[in-house]
Amino acid sequence: MSQTMQREIDEAEKVLLHTYNRYQVIFERGEGVYLYDTDGKKYLDFVSGIAVFALGYHNVEYNDALKDQIDKIIHTSNYYYNLPAIEAAKKLKKISGMDRVFFTNSGAEAIEGAIKTARKYGYLKDGRTDHEIIAMEHSFHGRTMGALSVTGNPHYREPFEPMIGNIKFARLNDFDSVERLVTDRTCAILLETVQGEGGVYPAEEEFLRKVRALCDEKDILMMLDEIQCGMGRTGEMFAWQRYGIKPDVMAAAKALGCGVPVGAFLMTEKVGAHSLAAGDHGTTYGGNPLACAAVCRVIELFEKLNVLDNVRQVGGYLEKCLDAVRNDFSCVETRRGVGMMQGLVFDRPVGDIITNAMDKGLVLINAGTNIIRLVPPLVITREHVDEMTAILRKSISEVCGGKN
Ligand SMILES: *Cc1c(COP(=O)(O)O)cnc(C)c1O
Repeated sequence: MSQTMQREIDEAEKVLLHTYNRYQVIFERGEGVYLYDTDGKKYLDFVSGIAVFALGYHNVEYNDALKDQIDKIIHTSNYYYNLPAIEAAKKLKKISGMDRVFFTNSGAEAIEGAIKTARKYGYLKDGRTDHEIIAMEHSFHGRTMGALSVTGNPHYREPFEPMIGNIKFARLNDFDSVERLVTDRTCAILLETVQGEGGVYPAEEEFLRKVRALCDEKDILMMLDEIQCGMGRTGEMFAWQRYGIKPDVMAAAKALGCGVPVGAFLMTEKVGAHSLAAGDHGTTYGGNPLACAAVCRVIELFEKLNVLDNVRQVGGYLEKCLDAVRNDFSCVETRRGVGMMQGLVFDRPVGDIITNAMDKGLVLINAGTNIIRLVPPLVITREHVDEMTAILRKSISEVCGGKN
């Protein structure tokens, strides 16, 4: 690392709150699926800002949409209509099959909205205020107090207790553990269709179908967090679309704006008519013209670039290459994931492997201590997968030993 970069990092450590143990690098610009640090060193990016920059960096059409919008208007209040928000909501409705959209600035805020939707739905149903939400162990829904309350990692929650009340935790893919927790006060069951931070655990089709049937039977809202696994990452626009079920409420963010901070929670017409009403919820920035111009262009580019086809094809190839890595190294226990959301599970902490790969010009991220998570831009090619695999193999070999 150059002295200039080191100096900037030292400055950062003096002014930024120490909430992250950051990798020792400053990324300055991106081109396609490559990042460049302030020293000009090039990196292949298999993180995309944690499943955000799906279209790759410096996409000219995406950039132009933002520049055009900046020249018109960046912000108006939600007390007025704006054209990009109308268009973005229509497009989202079309790709999701949901009916009503509320735009937020982040994933956590989308979850907050979903929680409020569920509570109000229950309240309107029976007038009670003690409704319960069932969430999953190992889940991750964000860092605000509401989102944290439904996050199934006690370690994240403990210092900030008490959480919001009446949240219970079941186990993903264990239907009995869900059913056991249902009472006449349950208003929602919340889960990630593919768990991300918690270790890349896909929900199984049978589990999802049973949860859907249970929710129908008891008039409970099925709420899916598609913040990481949505927007094409699994080869469908939203991961639940693979399974012939449909949620009542859904949260999106991350790749929704491909870098502009924007999230959304969406619901069916029925839930929209029986939950949040005028005065119940709001946001200053959410759904502003700049963010929504990004959403519109992102959805257009997904179609134009056949992103879903690419995820299915190259994602399949990625799986194959990762399975070969698993077979060749005894320190790799298993591979999990769908499409371009993959996890390699190791028998040890993966920090050193990630740092080693970084030195060799490959950006990877963990999920938990022992899992390397691969969430590349959705426009990668087989060649990029080959390039990634070659570096990954070298790094594993150097850190864990074994075949290269
Ligand atoms: C990232 C993430 C969130 C939180 O999103 P933020 O934009 O960081 O608030 C919530 N749920 C899932 C599944 C996520 O991956």
